[in-house]
Order: sequence, then structure tokens, then C-alpha cells
Amino acid sequence: MKITTEQIQEFMDMLTGGEVPEGMQMEDQPELSYKQAFSVIWYLQEHLRVLPDKFEMCDVCNTIFDNDSEGYIISDDSAEDDWYKEIGVSAEMVKAHEGARFCNEGCERRFWRNLRNNGNSSVWTYKVWNKAFYESASQVFPGEGDYHGEFKAKNETDLMYMLIEKGIDPALCAWEIELKGNG
Ligand SMILES: [Zn+2]
Repeated sequence: MKITTEQIQEFMDMLTGGEVPEGMQMEDQPELSYKQAFSVIWYLQEHLRVLPDKFEMCDVCNTIFDNDSEGYIISDDSAEDDWYKEIGVSAEMVKAHEGARFCNEGCERRFWRNLRNNGNSSVWTYKVWNKAFYESASQVFPGEGDYHGEFKAKNETDLMYMLIEKGIDPALCAWEIELKGNG
């Protein structure tokens, strides 16, 4: 039997306290969150292997999609994609969200927009390091001037201006975006 995306969606509806298929009576229908419900699917996929693992749940709208033919999952080489540059998402932001899943482009755009808006009102926190220190594995303990601290900026251009204002050369810096609690 070939399981369809619609059937998985139906199963998700049942697990989350939504509608059950016509004619079905269920006395103790579960009311799981979407994440909990998808972990049931995941168990059936990865552990029991009774469901194909191509089914994924969108991180934005919780819709089930067939990753063989639709949707997008951020992978370790996504950061190279020009599309992110076009929408103003830096390679660091992309890397920080490896594994995020979207049923379509609209949901992915919404994801980045929400992330930006839920932060400190369109502001990201960047942790800024001396580039040489940051990239050198042999220097275990930071010396003076190796860590420049946290900067709140709207984007990398703003961050660079802030660094220049502080007398720090951005070309000699490396930074990470600090993200809190957005799975
Ligand atoms: Zn979606």
C-alpha cells in the first residue's frame, strides 16, 4: 500500500484532536501538539520503518509535505544559495537554522520575517571576535582584544558601521548571530 501525503495529514489531524475520518468513532482521541504528533510519525518512519521518511512537517504552518517532490529543508550548503542574499538573510543565519523545514517558499519567507520581528524588534545580536583568534584552533584562551562583545544591529552592514564607530576594523572580525529559543 502506498501511503499518501493526505493520509499522513489525516493521521496528524487525528493525533492533534482534529477531525477523524468519516464514520470513525474515537472515545479517547489524543490532543497532541503538532510537534508531539510529528514525533509519533517520526518514530514510525525512523524506528519502525512502517512509513516512508520522505514526509516532513513544515516548521511554519505544520502542514505535511512530501520532501521528494516539494518543500525545502535547510542543509549545510544552503548558505551558498543566492536566494538568501536576495532576501537579506546572511550565511550565518542560514547555518544557524540547518534542518529547518518548509512546505513552500512563502512559508520560508514568513519564517525569516518572523524570526527577525520576534528578535529585539528587527535587531539581531551579534557576538564579535577577533578574526585571527576565531579562526585559530590553537589559541584556546582569548587574549585582550580577541572578543569585542555583543552588538545589536539590524543587519551586517549596520554591524560593520557600529564596529567602525568603535574603532574596530570589521575586516579583522568574525561574528556569530546569537539566537535564542527559535528551534
Ligand atoms: Zn508551510
